[in-house]
Amino acid sequence: MLAEVITIGDELLLGQTIDTNSAWMGAELTKHGIALHRITSISDAPAEITAALEEAMSRVDLVLVTGGLGPTRDDLTKETLASFFGMPLVMNEQVLNQITHWFENRGMEMLPVNRDQAMLPEGCEILPNLRGTAMGMWFQKGDEVSPKVVVSLPGVPYEMKGLMEEEVLPRVQKIWKLPKRYHRTVLTQGIGESFLSALIEDWEDGLEERGIHIAYLPAPGQVRVRFSAVDDLEDAAVRRVEEALEEFLELAGQHVVALDEMSLPEAVVQSLVENNCTIATAESCTGGSIAASITAVPGSSAVFQGSIVAYANAVKQQMLGVAAKDLEVHGAVSEPVVMQMAKGVREKLGTTYGLATSGIAGPSGGTALKPVGTIWVGLAGPKGVVARKFQLGDHRGRNVSKTVLLALAWILEDLKQKDSQRS
Ligand code: AMP
Ligand code: MG
Repeated sequence: MLAEVITIGDELLLGQTIDTNSAWMGAELTKHGIALHRITSISDAPAEITAALEEAMSRVDLVLVTGGLGPTRDDLTKETLASFFGMPLVMNEQVLNQITHWFENRGMEMLPVNRDQAMLPEGCEILPNLRGTAMGMWFQKGDEVSPKVVVSLPGVPYEMKGLMEEEVLPRVQKIWKLPKRYHRTVLTQGIGESFLSALIEDWEDGLEERGIHIAYLPAPGQVRVRFSAVDDLEDAAVRRVEEALEEFLELAGQHVVALDEMSLPEAVVQSLVENNCTIATAESCTGGSIAASITAVPGSSAVFQGSIVAYANAVKQQMLGVAAKDLEVHGAVSEPVVMQMAKGVREKLGTTYGLATSGIAGPSGGTALKPVGTIWVGLAGPKGVVARKFQLGDHRGRNVSKTVLLALAWILEDLKQKDSQRS
């Protein structure tokens, strides 16, 4: 079954609001075995709305529309839909009651424009919106066998999501017999998309034939790989994907840092918890970004002690015990300094691991010997202190975010080795 999404709103075209609705809907429809065929973003102009509806309905059976349902004059979706389907707007007493209560519960004055939100196309099915005052509307044409459905939903993302989950998807599942879709994703790091593809080339060639679809979703420093299968039988789709996932892990498992929706920081926190380990960071070029990414994970307090943002040499010396002589002879961006930083923070905060960074993030500050993008990462742990040097690019922001990923991936690698030594 094919669907299209139309997002309505001048603000979407002006770049003031990013159209997150269609991205969310795409993911949600896919999960339910509905193929999203096209996304169209248009202004609040009735002629545009009508044209987009006509076109979409000529192509697919389900058209989901968001936006343009607010009480203000710029929102024209409801009026346009009413005339498109030839349904007059009439006062819906039940909805009026609901909206009146909505304002009463919040101690807010209800204006005539809010009352107008209960004026709804006669003959469409109302999808009650419990989170706001713009109702969802379900328009159905055609017969039972091949129905054509247009659903209009509010633009406010959380109201739209609530209606999709509670009203729209259950109805869609009742009307159309949908195939079962199953997918798993793996997060890889430290290997570019083309290298990864070359590594699994021969195996990948056979996937399509086995009814498994593979997609590469690259992000800076990481590639997410998604395996999916569609089948009338849920078991068959699950089995095919799980098999493929296992084979992929055999081939490229050394590059995998997390599975499914899990992010790298989440994987690190989980692994630290499982291994009963704690961590602290001493950050120069990353300025606390590693600490920020770890503390963004709920439950990180069980493993994260703290961070010393040691940007100045004086802080590296006083707070972390880095030797003045090493700073002088080797410079702040050097192996001995980053090792002392890692060791220093581990001792000072009493953790299993101390993780340190020192580098030239750019755009200036590079020398012939240490060009912009020279990054040292130090790791102090139960086995001792080690450092790694990375040569990154010349973009400051990307150098910082890549360093965060590299440092976190290293911790994960170390914990994995610990795991395999134990077993
Ligand atoms: P509306 O239903 O047009 O009154 O939309 C209300 C608000 O929802 C707008 O002001 C936007 O902030 C937000 N919004 C509308 N459409 C979208 C969309 N496609 N993606 C994300 N937010 C949206
Ligand atoms: Mg609007």
